[in-house]
Amino acid sequence: MLPWEIVAARPAPALERPRKSLIKFCNSCGASVTHRIPEGDSLHRAVCDACGTIQYENPKVVVGCLPVRGDRILLCKRAIEPRYGLWTLPAGFMENGETLEEGAMREAMEEAHAQVEIGELYTVFSVPHISQVHMMFRARLVNDDFRAGIESLEVKLVTAEEIPWQELAFTVVRRTLEHFLEDRARGQFVPHFGDIRAPVR
Ligand code: ZN
Repeated sequence: MLPWEIVAARPAPALERPRKSLIKFCNSCGASVTHRIPEGDSLHRAVCDACGTIQYENPKVVVGCLPVRGDRILLCKRAIEPRYGLWTLPAGFMENGETLEEGAMREAMEEAHAQVEIGELYTVFSVPHISQVHMMFRARLVNDDFRAGIESLEVKLVTAEEIPWQELAFTVVRRTLEHFLEDRARGQFVPHFGDIRAPVR
């Protein structure tokens, strides 16, 4: 068993200030909320003084995969904002009621109509300034029967030399591809943890 490689070992700040809450109304009774630190808590929350409900906002999980067929990698050209027209790996927000693997498979199907076998969890990135955690799996593209899904302009298999480094949509994608190529070159894949600080791109 290999140790998990620590990619970004610098100490985190006490708490990176997340984006200001946009919550205006109680999701239980519809009354206006106030933003304050509830008794016994240490952070500002959206508090409903009418019914007592506290709306907690916590990070979202983005899950995806790096589909490989032979020596080539599946990339998707985004047909949606943000980063319209730039290249990415199939990934998206995890849905309620699914596992990480199911989410990664679903995103590959939605964005690339790609049938994948999900392998090992490969990269995990904290992205605190947008309150997200990104989790990417290695995956095997089962066949060549893929095509652009509704969120993609184009889907293609690329060799390492063909990766459009200047046109990648997200830092998570770039760093996941970099790790993959380095690990593949030395013949040993290990999971990678890291942090991504603003700006994302
Ligand atoms: Zn309420």
